[in-house]
Amino acid sequence: MLGVTVLGTGSPMVSATRAGPAALITYQRRPDSPAHHYLVDAGRWVSLRLEQAGIPWPHLDAVLFTHHHMDHNVGWSDLLMSGWQMGRAKPWRVFGPPFTSTFCAATHDAFSYDRQHRPVLQSDEGGRQDVTEITGAGPVFDEDGLRVTAAVVPHGDCVPSFAFRFDAPDRSIVISGDCSPSEALVELAAGADVLVHEIEHRASTRAQLEAFGLPEADQERVFAVMAEWHTDETQLGAIAQAAGVGKLMLTHYIPDAFDPAALAAAISSTYTGDLVLSDDLTVG
Ligand SMILES: [Zn+2]
Ligand SMILES: [Zn+2]
Repeated sequence: MLGVTVLGTGSPMVSATRAGPAALITYQRRPDSPAHHYLVDAGRWVSLRLEQAGIPWPHLDAVLFTHHHMDHNVGWSDLLMSGWQMGRAKPWRVFGPPFTSTFCAATHDAFSYDRQHRPVLQSDEGGRQDVTEITGAGPVFDEDGLRVTAAVVPHGDCVPSFAFRFDAPDRSIVISGDCSPSEALVELAAGADVLVHEIEHRASTRAQLEAFGLPEADQERVFAVMAEWHTDETQLGAIAQAAGVGKLMLTHYIPDAFDPAALAAAISSTYTGDLVLSDDLTVG
């Protein structure tokens, strides 16, 4: 039994209704087996959303970072320190691209005062991080019947940025991370039951820039940059269709305010599977 909860559907821009990017993979080998929980990215408010989802998050099995833009990791220090205080007894397993070790060491050091001046009974182990850096596409880990695979996806100069696929005996789920279109993502997601994918709604972005009074030539410069970093509504349907995924769940909305009917119509013009415009805590 494999499932995903889209914990946060926001972007770098602070939103009153959308937490930062994060998704939880839950896996149970059999109904009477213990549940495993894996977190992909840790954006702002991730601890609140995990708590709302009723997940025993201080005991997460592993955390995977797709890349180290701050919207994807700014919630990590909260999980690390709050989880330790709330009873985690063993180091956190952390996977991510190069820089993950630097990021985790800096986060650990940033809270050294707290660790030295807090009368907690927990073991030091719960505040430590066991980091594995992923340098390219391929297997990440395989445990208790769950196989995790990374693909390198294009995201401007964030190289490498990763998408992750989770394969259980019954289902397969793919998390895109942030990315512009690529054959690598289509291959990773081929035949998956669920693809959780970022989206830049170009029509809404254009309307916002026009409302700001940005001249058209400057708008085109913005879009030229965006094309290297993100996937828009004219591209995503064809990607999901080519991969043949059963369900496409949108997340990481750029901009935060958009026309959902127009967005759904644009994607559905090329994608015939189930389309879900996720909100925070949508389950798939
Ligand atoms: Zn992002
Ligand atoms: Zn990013």
